[in-house]
Order: sequence, then C-alpha cells, then structure tokens
Amino acid sequence: MNIDPVCNAALDPHRAAARVEYAGQSYWFCSEACHKAFTREPHRYVRDVRAEPAKSTASAETSFDGNEA
Ligand SMILES: [Zn+2]
Repeated sequence: MNIDPVCNAALDPHRAAARVEYAGQSYWFCSEACHKAFTREPHRYVRDVRAEPAKSTASAETSFDGNEA
C-alpha cells in the first residue's frame, strides 16, 4: 500500500492513475490531477529530500546544482 503524497489517500499501485519517480523514490497518485500537482512542485509534497536547504541559514542564497565534488 502506498500513499498519494498530494492528497494522502492510500493507494493500491495496481489501481493508481499515475506513477512518478522522484529523488530515487516511486510515488503513486490517485488521479491525473494529483499527478500534475506533484510534477509541478514535487518539493511541496516530498519532505525527505536531502537537497532541501537548511532552515537555519537565514540570508544564505545557496542553491546546489550538483556541483558538489
Ligand atoms: Zn490523490
């Protein structure tokens, strides 16, 4: 059983309307509407993404674009 990250509905992957892979995870959606909402702004619905900036850095304009060595 999976959870639709947009509307938090419990989903059976076999019945899901759409699937997206994001940050190494698969997400299932109950409808095209949820799927579109997610693909537009996935960071809104996914919390455990490591690329998310730290909240404590107030005025740091940091954006990592994969240039980390
Ligand atoms: Zn949904």
